[in-house]
Amino acid sequence: MTDKPRVGVLALQGDFDAHRRAIERAGGDAVEVRTAEDLRDVEGLVIPGGESTTMLKLLNDEHLFEPVREFGKRKPVFGTCAGAILLASEVVNPHQDSLGLVDITVERNAYGRQIDSRISDIELDDGKTEAVFIRAPVIRRVGQGVKVLASYRNDPVLVEQGRHLIATFHPELSRDISIHRKFLETLIQNGDGRDDENPSR
Ligand code: GLN
Repeated sequence: MTDKPRVGVLALQGDFDAHRRAIERAGGDAVEVRTAEDLRDVEGLVIPGGESTTMLKLLNDEHLFEPVREFGKRKPVFGTCAGAILLASEVVNPHQDSLGLVDITVERNAYGRQIDSRISDIELDDGKTEAVFIRAPVIRRVGQGVKVLASYRNDPVLVEQGRHLIATFHPELSRDISIHRKFLETLIQNGDGRDDENPSR
């Protein structure tokens, strides 16, 4: 037995292993999630970066799309880059289905070729951190219940809505684990989770 928070990492595609390591470094117990069954014993879920179209296809193929959406009605979900795209309520460039757990509109691959990938400093409440962008989406709209925690070039890049957290960059690839730590704190506060339709309580 362990009293570390158990965090699932969706392990269908993408850089889930880097998240697993970041969670462990932040003091959590990381568990790879590949089936609906695996979701039963975790208190929160990370959806990693990768290719959102492929991940969406695999979520459907593995019959995980609805179970993940249901999970998010009670428990915290943290999406990075492709994971952010999957969590959004609206996806453009081109349009694709998404879980709709966070009320934002994202445009895929919106920084264009020149800054396909880059590392920049962003400002958080408690100081600067490094943000690794890799073919990142841009958050074009945030709904009323969404709080912007950090921006880059005037676009939000780290946002939260209730228990859910979204980064358009890859905190799992940086040494600073403060964002993973923040997610673990949300998990602990969420406790057993309450079944509701409104993630922004
Ligand atoms: N460009 C990818 C997509 O649209 C996301 C890239 C990433 O996760 N690093 O799904």
